[in-house]
Amino acid sequence: MGEPILLSLVVALVVVPSATAYEVPSRLNEVARVYSLGVGEVRCPSRAEWDEDWASSFGWAYTNVREDYTVLGPVVCTGALGVGSADVPAWQQALGVLVLTHEAFHLRHWRFRRNEGKVECQAIANFRDATQRLGGRLRKPRTSTPTRWRCTTTRSGSSPSTEIRSA
Ligand SMILES: [Zn+2]
Repeated sequence: MGEPILLSLVVALVVVPSATAYEVPSRLNEVARVYSLGVGEVRCPSRAEWDEDWASSFGWAYTNVREDYTVLGPVVCTGALGVGSADVPAWQQALGVLVLTHEAFHLRHWRFRRNEGKVECQAIANFRDATQRLGGRLRKPRTSTPTRWRCTTTRSGSSPSTEIRSA
């Protein structure tokens, strides 16, 4: 008779820590919701939780499009949360902005949410805006680089491709 209780206690001990280990940083979620149009949740797991995650061996982050949540790896979380800070390397801040924005466009309920090309193009096009929303600013480029971009679809033969152009 004592066995089921012991078993459920063990299950609770195993399940509870991993279910509560990740954080849901409000700043990252506020910025992501601008691009996801209010959809989804952005999670930052602990290093231990991320290392146990099946996705950590082949990516910086992922989005579960069925359950509408994004998991950012610790390198990406630290980068996105450290935008504008002197304590986080610039490459890591840039990575954080780009990956957060990319995943937000996977969360967004639009027809191209599973299209990597379209999603990445939107992330690049919104990079400057996302950087500012996260509290950072980009130096004005020396050359006449456009500050606004848009994504367009072109067709070469039968395969469509996504291009980024100045707006
Ligand atoms: Zn993607």
